[in-house]
Amino acid sequence: MPSLYVHIPFCRHRCGYCDFNTYSGLDSIIPRYVEALAKEIREVGTQGDAPSLHTLFFGGGTPSLLTAGQAGVLMQAIRHSFSIEADAEITLEANPGGLTEGYLSELLVLGLNRISLGVQSIHPAELAVLEREHGIEQVVSSVRAARAAGFANLSLDLIYGIPGQTLDTWEESLTRVLALEPDHLSLYALTLEHGTPLRREVRSGRVPAPDDDLAAEMYEQAGERLARNGFAQYEISNWARRMAGPDAWRFASRHNLQYWRNLPYFGVGAGAHGYVNGRRYSNVLAPATYIRRMDSGASRGWPLSRAAARSEILSNDEAMRQSMWLGLRLTEEGVPVGGFQHRFGVSPDERFGREIDELLAHRLIERQAKPDRLRLTEHGRLLANQVFVRFV
Ligand code: SF4
Repeated sequence: MPSLYVHIPFCRHRCGYCDFNTYSGLDSIIPRYVEALAKEIREVGTQGDAPSLHTLFFGGGTPSLLTAGQAGVLMQAIRHSFSIEADAEITLEANPGGLTEGYLSELLVLGLNRISLGVQSIHPAELAVLEREHGIEQVVSSVRAARAAGFANLSLDLIYGIPGQTLDTWEESLTRVLALEPDHLSLYALTLEHGTPLRREVRSGRVPAPDDDLAAEMYEQAGERLARNGFAQYEISNWARRMAGPDAWRFASRHNLQYWRNLPYFGVGAGAHGYVNGRRYSNVLAPATYIRRMDSGASRGWPLSRAAARSEILSNDEAMRQSMWLGLRLTEEGVPVGGFQHRFGVSPDERFGREIDELLAHRLIERQAKPDRLRLTEHGRLLANQVFVRFV
């Protein structure tokens, strides 16, 4: 069953490290963008005969810039042209600040049931390096508002490896976010993306370069701390609150699991990517071009909409490679050998025997029996890019 990603490419302010497809100063076109998005949702859903969705994700950008009315327009378009499973996970990414209980209650009534909040750090100096505009007070009030509104699934993001960050300040950030009792945590290593102001600052020497060894220590420190505090890691950067019995992974992000399992998802909105029927595609990047294309562009064959810019059918071999490196991101589940064989007609060892043997010899991956699967070792998690590159 597929998923749906909805991209909202607007932010109040552009953070210095961000290379996402998002824009500040374009708030005036949000109403027209929402209309175009509803049009694309209807086009893709209706042509596809109302596919059933088990996860939806409003990502960005800052989707919480949408009014509840605008989110309602989008949810209505989705309900009208797709089918949404009764227990679907429906996430909205949000930034702390400006989130009120009233607003979040309206989202809950619309069917949204998971909030993912970008905290990044609790320290003003680290937030300043990232050019984030919020402070810890807004994080606390946003979490309180989400819980008061009734959200029972709350995820918080933190960043480590920030110039100037120490093991102590990182521990303080972890302590403070754990005190907020989230259900899920995403911890991302800061990367200096091409073309970002932060990269330029570091290159010019105005900001110290991130220290990779220190970042690796922070990662290990976090893994130990979260395990002690009742969280189980299931992906390189993601931890879910540990639950008992069949509900053990209740708080793992079902939407992101869809990507890591290399399963189909639709993508709508400017710059959104999708992967449906073996076809990988993406839409035009600029919101104004996107609106224009949805107004007057030529229609394309399903699953593409008028906004599609790129599209290719993945060969079987590319799909196998993708399943390997995405699956190896899943630290518990890994690549299930039986599932891979069932999907592709060959086992991972038949197709990637040499790569697998070398990675096993270097103890970067391990083989587990019952169920038979390949997954990263703890050492391999620290050197994951060296593993993935073997399958790209
Ligand atoms: S809020 Fe998020 S998406 Fe927006 S500029 Fe900052 S990092 Fe990028």
